[in-house]
Amino acid sequence: MIPTDYLTHWIPLTSLENMAETEYDVLIAGTGMGGGAVLWRLCEQWKNSGKRIGVIERGGPILPAQARNLPMMDNERLDRFFYDVSKPLPGSFPAYAGGRQLFALGGRTLFWNMISPRMSLSEIAGWPVSLEEMDAYYYIAEEAMNVTHNYTQGSSLTEILLGRLHRIGFPEAMAVPMAVDLQPRIYAEPDSDVFFSSMGFLAQALNRRPFDLAVRARVVQVLVDKGKVTGVQVMSPDRKIYNLKAKNVVLSASTFETPRLLLHSGIHGRAIGHYLTNHSSIRATGRISRAEFPEVLGTLGILMPGTAERHYQIQLRGPDSYDWYQTYQEKRLMEELEILFLAYGRVESRFENMITLDSNRKDEYGVPEIRVHFSYSDTDQAVILQAMAAVNHLSSALGITLIPRVGQSAIYLMPPGDLHHDSGTCRMGGDPATSATDRYGQIHGVSGLYIADNSVLPSVGTANVALTTAALAIRTADYIIRQE
Ligand SMILES: Cc1cc2nc3c(=O)[nH]c(=O)nc-3n(C[C@H](O)[C@H](O)[C@H](O)COP(=O)(O)OP(=O)(O)OC[C@H]3O[C@@H](n4cnc5c(N)ncnc54)[C@H](O)[C@@H]3O)c2cc1C
Repeated sequence: MIPTDYLTHWIPLTSLENMAETEYDVLIAGTGMGGGAVLWRLCEQWKNSGKRIGVIERGGPILPAQARNLPMMDNERLDRFFYDVSKPLPGSFPAYAGGRQLFALGGRTLFWNMISPRMSLSEIAGWPVSLEEMDAYYYIAEEAMNVTHNYTQGSSLTEILLGRLHRIGFPEAMAVPMAVDLQPRIYAEPDSDVFFSSMGFLAQALNRRPFDLAVRARVVQVLVDKGKVTGVQVMSPDRKIYNLKAKNVVLSASTFETPRLLLHSGIHGRAIGHYLTNHSSIRATGRISRAEFPEVLGTLGILMPGTAERHYQIQLRGPDSYDWYQTYQEKRLMEELEILFLAYGRVESRFENMITLDSNRKDEYGVPEIRVHFSYSDTDQAVILQAMAAVNHLSSALGITLIPRVGQSAIYLMPPGDLHHDSGTCRMGGDPATSATDRYGQIHGVSGLYIADNSVLPSVGTANVALTTAALAIRTADYIIRQE
């Protein structure tokens, strides 16, 4: 068949002019982990319905898939590219000096490390979602994202160190869960999307039913009339303004941009912008002799999750602290293996850790910049010290010699914000005094306005956050479907 129109991009795009003509059932702002998960679920469930779904993405289509799927990306080029396309988070210095921001189709999942543990049961017990419901949505998210514990299967490095950890009293240590599609292919089924990103959500959504997508389009205001959302105002790079109409709006613009949008739109719940959390980030590098491990060495990926008593998580990565992924780089022959210890400390949810709008500083679209106010509490500091002591203990118990860094101790604290586990600024809960949304992610007092990104997490726990964000976003999508 000869096509009568042409696809000018590798993903179908719709102009803002055309989108302004449509009244959407759901409009989603942002295509990172949260936005992608909502879109996937809506398209999956509304397959044959006439519902209209629109997506607005501020960034451009800089990569068609997770960066590690591209054969030209070794770890060094990937890091260099990430640092080029992302920018320091404005208004975050010095309180949150490690913060960076990325605007792109697919959001930060284009570069994430795909480590996908669940939050501990003791953490979820304090949330406005039951353990059973969370369990069900974790299963859905894990299946959609291909989360597996088998990434390191067959690696003597992982198996021997895991065995040692179990013997010295850490039975909960496990092979790291990762969002990587390891299914063998049959009948020449293609698989160009091994390493998961939100692009996987967008692709699965598109293969179920069409949706409208505009890129390099920025939501600048949420439009509300008499306590009900009516749509969003969007600006193109040439500063043309478009008012898009929608019955439901889902903001998935990130922990920093989502509350910024709400506050700039005059939506001022008491908790909006507050309770900013992240993990404290502790690192150390050690060495161990190659001779201790038979072939096949493979990849080291071990996770010691946090527990009700232990308020930190520890990961071990190797065999080279830099070239961790077994992807496209040449493998060096090593006499000593480098093991990277990463500990993430739980950070309390505190009202005074927050983002505010700085009306004296506006960006090129005329939107006030944010200011980040962040510090560790005494409890957070105590957790940092406990995590450092644990890394010290583990390294010697495993026979790994820590390497002191020039001018620093061998075990050191990274600047706040360096981990992209920022969350909490629109946290979910029952009480509008301490939460921005209800238990389904709907902003208190504004019907049809939902949040689905890291900002909605009620607390940060010790686990990497993105899987939980996806699970909650899918749950919010199901809630929207039930309301329609
Ligand atoms: C190098 C790196 C490694 C990481 N490794 C891990 C890991 O192993 N495990 C883990 O759990 N997490 C990891 N993370 C963190 C994880 O990627 C983020 O926590 C997650 O992507 C956050 O999802 P989000 O939807 O909140 O935000 P994002 O993924 O950042 O998505 C926000 C989206 O909103 C868009 N946007 C912003 N403003 C607007 C606007 N006004 N209008 C329209 N669109 C807008 C952005 O362009 C973006 O697409 C890592 C992150 C990085 C950078």
